[in-house]
Amino acid sequence: MDIELFNKYKKLGRGSWGKDLLMWKTMYTAFLTQNKDEEFTPVTELFLNIFLEIPKARKEGIPIIMHPFNYGPELFHSMNLAPLMQEVFSVGLAPFHFNEPYIDFTNEIGYGDNPTLCNAQRPLIGSYMRGAAPIPDLLFYLSTPCNSLAMTYQVFQNLTGVPGFNIDIPYWAYDKASEFYDGKTIDYLIKQIKELISWIEKETKQKLDLKNLQQTMTQVNQAREYIWEFNELLKTVPCPVPSITGFGNFVTMVTRGGTNDAVKVTKWLRDNAAENVKNGIAGVPDEKIRIAWPYTHIFFDQELFPWLEEQFNAVVILDMLGFYQVLPHDTSTIEKCYESLAKGTLDFSMIGTCRGPIEYYIDFLLNYVKEYKIDCVIMPMQFACKHAYAMARVASEAVREETGLPTLIFGCDPYDSREVTSEEIKERISEFLTQVVL
Ligand code: SF4
Repeated sequence: MDIELFNKYKKLGRGSWGKDLLMWKTMYTAFLTQNKDEEFTPVTELFLNIFLEIPKARKEGIPIIMHPFNYGPELFHSMNLAPLMQEVFSVGLAPFHFNEPYIDFTNEIGYGDNPTLCNAQRPLIGSYMRGAAPIPDLLFYLSTPCNSLAMTYQVFQNLTGVPGFNIDIPYWAYDKASEFYDGKTIDYLIKQIKELISWIEKETKQKLDLKNLQQTMTQVNQAREYIWEFNELLKTVPCPVPSITGFGNFVTMVTRGGTNDAVKVTKWLRDNAAENVKNGIAGVPDEKIRIAWPYTHIFFDQELFPWLEEQFNAVVILDMLGFYQVLPHDTSTIEKCYESLAKGTLDFSMIGTCRGPIEYYIDFLLNYVKEYKIDCVIMPMQFACKHAYAMARVASEAVREETGLPTLIFGCDPYDSREVTSEEIKERISEFLTQVVL
């Protein structure tokens, strides 16, 4: 980033952000400093703006709605709200280890532990009790991908008294070709989305502008088309981008889905991948191993994937969140827009694979390893993620039976560097790659 740009963002971060945004501001500064000597890309710009927009909204009197990492905020954008994707906070603290004192404090006050509740959200409770968590005007969450998430959001809602709304995600498929098809799935969700809209209208004393919704949904679809093309390009051998690149699409859609910013970033990512494919450029020079990582990455260790690339010429094609699989839907009429919102919610990263029968996840994984010409599967796994924990072994057996590929499943907490350390993780992966894969 050139120095003028760095100084511009430094200046933008100045002034008081409010007491509850003190840690949010610290994260902004840490992120800016961390990126000082890195290339300034549309993804960097998007991240910086995610932080800046919250104090700005507060100053302008725009209601802030907090929501989890498994919901695209297009509806909120179309209703002139400022969405705050909560895990930018509670997970975003992990790379800097800022979350660990809050995990410890959450333990002290007796709210769960790793085997029972996930540390992706748990620091929210401790940080709130310490006066360090952002307090929104409205709170929204879903029943999936896990009971852990829904529980922590409920606790946060009760502690803060912030008005909240939640959606129950149905189990069955909406695709008629699926053996798990149920004709009521989409209608069940559309009904709840309409109730959500009425709730926002009541809380913010404004009406949904249907034209705005249609325009927002059209922009969502445009970005989804770019991501679809990007995901297709990653099937190329060698993979045209380095390991963590696809995660940029996920962050974009879960924070800015439905805006011009999202269209710009997803197009940039697609264009880069396409250009590299055209010129035969690999994301990891001399690519030797293609890894499927069908779970979240290790958030506390940003150096793990670069280490894999350098030590083993290995590329992690996509992690589970970066594997954004939502297809563009029909937005020609308002009713179709509601349907698109519903389908987008059901297919969202981690929801589509974790909301129903285990076959959803197994099919996803089998297609992933076959289509992306994968050499091995790696899954870090934590006890708190009970559904994933239950699925991992069965899914890895299915992969072995159908393709013969090996899987490494190892225990660790992706949010807490102290449970299983970076060194131990690297040791497990090294052993697996050298003794089983190579
Ligand atoms: S890692 Fe698992 S338990 Fe934690 S928030 Fe994600 S789905 Fe829930």
